[in-house]
Amino acid sequence: MKKSIIIIGAGVAGLSAGCYGQMNGYNTQIFEMHTLPGGVCTTWKRKGYKIDGCIHWLTGIKPETDFYQIWEELGVLPNSNIIEHEEYARIEGKDGKVFIVYSDIDRLEQHMKELAPEDKDLIEDFCNGIRKMMDFHIPWEKAADLFGPLDVIKLMKSMIPFGGIFRKWGNKTIQDVAQRFKNPFMREAFPYIFNLENPPEFPILAVMKTFAWMNQKTIGYPIGGSLELARVIEQRYLSLGGKINYKSRVVKILVENNKAVGVRLADGSEHRANIVVSAADGRTTIFDMLDGKYINKKVRGYYEKLGLFAPLIYIGLGVNHPYEEIPSTVTGINFPFDKPIKIGERERNHLSVQFYTFDPTLAPEGKTFVRVHFPSDYDYWEKLKKDSKLYKAEKEKIAQKVIAQLDARFPGFAADVEMHDVATPMTWVRYTGNWRGSFEGWIETPKTMRMRMSQMLPGLSNFYMAGQWVQPGGSIPAVAVSGRNAVQIICKKDKKEFMTSKPAK
Ligand SMILES: Cc1cc2nc3c(=O)[nH]c(=O)nc-3n(C[C@H](O)[C@H](O)[C@H](O)COP(=O)(O)OP(=O)(O)OC[C@H]3O[C@@H](n4cnc5c(N)ncnc54)[C@H](O)[C@@H]3O)c2cc1C
Repeated sequence: MKKSIIIIGAGVAGLSAGCYGQMNGYNTQIFEMHTLPGGVCTTWKRKGYKIDGCIHWLTGIKPETDFYQIWEELGVLPNSNIIEHEEYARIEGKDGKVFIVYSDIDRLEQHMKELAPEDKDLIEDFCNGIRKMMDFHIPWEKAADLFGPLDVIKLMKSMIPFGGIFRKWGNKTIQDVAQRFKNPFMREAFPYIFNLENPPEFPILAVMKTFAWMNQKTIGYPIGGSLELARVIEQRYLSLGGKINYKSRVVKILVENNKAVGVRLADGSEHRANIVVSAADGRTTIFDMLDGKYINKKVRGYYEKLGLFAPLIYIGLGVNHPYEEIPSTVTGINFPFDKPIKIGERERNHLSVQFYTFDPTLAPEGKTFVRVHFPSDYDYWEKLKKDSKLYKAEKEKIAQKVIAQLDARFPGFAADVEMHDVATPMTWVRYTGNWRGSFEGWIETPKTMRMRMSQMLPGLSNFYMAGQWVQPGGSIPAVAVSGRNAVQIICKKDKKEFMTSKPAK
C-alpha cells in the first residue's frame, strides 16, 4: 500500500513537496488555511486591477542554468510566458544623475565608469566578480541533510576556482562595498541596487550572483504575476493526483511515541498520515503546532538570534495612464524626496516605484498597475491594528503621501489614480501566518548565506520542514527546492530511489 503524506501549507514549498511526493508514489494531501495556493506568492484584485504582491524575478528560466530543471519538473517551463528585463533598476540622485543597473554586465561596467571614473578599479573588480560568478553553480540538486563526506569533498573541490572571489567578497555586505566608492553619488546610490528594501547587511556575493544570472538572461518575470505562477504549480500537483484542502487551518501536529502521525485542524477534525511535512511558518510549526517539544539549542538559536526580512508596507495603485515611456526594469525606479517625510513609523527620503507596463494582464487596457513598498516595523503595525479606525486612517494617510510624492516626480500622476490599496505587515500575518509579517523569512547576510538548516527536528521522526524558514534568504526557487529536498529525504529513509518527471508536452 502507498504511504501517505500530509503537507501543511500550499505555498510554493508545499506545492513542490506535494508534486515530488506524488512523483515518488506517495499519497499526498495538502491542508491550506487560505482559499488559494501560493502563500506570499500571490496577487489580489481591486477595481479592475490585479495587485501583484510578490514576484519581481524568477531565477532559472534558461536551460542549463541553476533551477531550470525544477521549473520543468513543476510544469512552469517551458510553457510560461516569461519576459527578461534589460535593466535591473534605476536609481536617481538629487542632481538629476541616474544609475542604471543594466542586466548586461559590459554595459553596466561602462555606465558605472562613466558615472564614477575615479572608482574605475573598484568597478572593474566588482564587474569581474559578477563575470566569475556566472560559472558558479548553486549546489541545489541534493538535500543538505543527505550530504555525506564524499559530497562535502566534491563540493569543496567545486569551490576551489572561486576561492579568490569568496575571500575577497564573501564577508562583505552591499553597504561595505558602497562605502568604498569615492564618488559621492555612487556611494549614495549603490546601496539601493537591491531596492527591495535596501537591507544594509545584504551579502554582496548574493547581489553579484543575481547580476550574473541577469547577464546570463536566466532571470525573468512571468506574465500574469505571482498567483498565476502558483496556479501553474497547483495544476501540476493536481494532475499528478494530489489533493488540496483549502480553508483548512492546522493547529496541531499529532505525535505518538515521538513520531508524527497526522494533524488536527481548527475545526477539531483529525487527519492521519504516515508522514507530515510542514511548509507553513517555521515558528508556528515548531512552537505552536508541536508545542516546542522538538527543539535543541541550534534550532532555538535561529528563532532567538537570526534577523528577519523586515515586513512591508505595500501600496498598490491603479493609474489611468499607459506610462509607455517608463523603462521596464526588474525592481523599478528609486528616487529621492526633496525633503524627508514621515511615512508609517519613520522618516523616509527615497521611494522605489514599479510601473508594471510590461504586464498588461494586471491592468485594464491603456492603464497601469503601479507598486511602491517600504520596509516597516512590525511592532508599530501590531499596536496600530488594535484600533481599526486608527489603522485604516494610517493606511489612507500613507497612500496619499505616496501619491503626492509620485505626483511630484511624475507630474499628473495623482489625477490619474483610480485605485489604491495598502497592505501592511499585519496583512501578511493574516494571509500567510508568517512570523512578524516577514515576507521572505530569515534575512540573508554573509553569515546566513552559508548556513544549511536541517529540514528535520531533533527527536521527532516522520516529520520534515520545507519552505523559507529552513532556507535563509527565502525566494521562490529556494523554497521549491526545499519541497523537493523534503521528498528526497523521505525516499532515502524509505530506501527508495528519488524519482522526478516532467509533464507530457
Ligand atoms: C513582496 C515580495 C516580493 C518577493 N519577490 C520575490 C522575487 O522576485 N523572486 C523570488 O524568488 N522570491 C521573491 N519573494 C520571496 C518568495 O515569494 C518567498 O520566499 C516564497 O514564496 C515563500 O514560500 P513558502 O512556501 O516557503 O512560504 P509561504 O508562501 O509563506 O507559504 C506558506 C503557506 O502555508 C499556509 N499556512 C500557514 N499556516 C498554516 C496553517 N496553520 N494551516 C494551514 N496552512 C497554513 C499559508 O497560508 C501559506 O499558503 C518575494 C516575496 C514577497 C512577499
